Amino acid sequence: MDESHVAGDLVDVLFTEAQIQARLAELAIEIERDYDGEEILLVGVLRGAVMVMADLARHFGRHVEMDWMAVSSYGSGTKSSGVVRILKDLDTDINGRHVLVVEDIIDTGLTLSWLVSNLGSRGPASVEICTLLRKPEAQRMSVAVKYVGYDIPNEFVVGYGLDFNERYRNLRSVGTLAPHVYS
Ligand code: IMP
Repeated sequence: MDESHVAGDLVDVLFTEAQIQARLAELAIEIERDYDGEEILLVGVLRGAVMVMADLARHFGRHVEMDWMAVSSYGSGTKSSGVVRILKDLDTDINGRHVLVVEDIIDTGLTLSWLVSNLGSRGPASVEICTLLRKPEAQRMSVAVKYVGYDIPNEFVVGYGLDFNERYRNLRSVGTLAPHVYS
């Protein structure tokens, strides 16, 4: 893809397309090993997790099911509000299922803590979390995150599903947004 239209908007490329794919392949191997003999339902959190879900799912050499939830916790800025609303619920009954929530990024973890307890109340066999990126504050979450692609510094990043005002999601890499874009 020609990414020249975002030239100057990123101060740094944190992870290239190749690095992201290599890490997702490793995570898929780990997940396959941990869920040997079990059915997995991948639950993607819209919209940011679309790319992670699509690529992670295709690294598996086994059947996985996918379903989606949309929740809102962010406005149009760069700060988490902590207010979570379900915009789209699962189509699948997760009672007795092994659920693996697939996320793009965990910042404060407020969204995810809420989501995990919401899913936990539906009688699943297990609920675990896989995220491509995790920011420092997330390490204080009460919910354990089983699969983490990369721990990153506390900067606002875009690309590979992550947006700023709905832009940059379709970049193949993840980069740090230049302050002039949002200030
Ligand atoms: P949390 O509730 O603070 O963990 O926020 C989680 C959500 O905020 C993520 O799913 C993203 O949609 C968004 N978010 C957090 N940090 C970033 C970032 O650096 N870039 C883009 N979106 C972010």
